[in-house]
Amino acid sequence: MEAPQLIEARRLPESHRLRLTWSDDHVAEYPYDYLRGYCPCAVCQGHSVVEIKFHPPSAPVTIETLEPVGNYGLSIVFSDGHGTGIYRFDFLRQIDPGETEA
Ligand SMILES: [Zn+2]
Repeated sequence: MEAPQLIEARRLPESHRLRLTWSDDHVAEYPYDYLRGYCPCAVCQGHSVVEIKFHPPSAPVTIETLEPVGNYGLSIVFSDGHGTGIYRFDFLRQIDPGETEA
């Protein structure tokens, strides 16, 4: 089966969530702090490649900028200035917080 592609990434400022819509019709909403805590960069994750760990941000964050990386990921810059993580689509699906109403 082909890996699902990201169709739309929409910021929901009121609920502090990022809504992702996928090519397989899956829709999920990721709280900003949740995404920040799962930042996949080497600084946040260290050298362990065994499993991505959740590191909750010390203060609530919002998303400053959101940019596609090739056709495989998203670059997210948070309001705390951190933005070195590249969120691959397969990773985003892996940490999917669950289905929501479309
Ligand atoms: Zn990071």
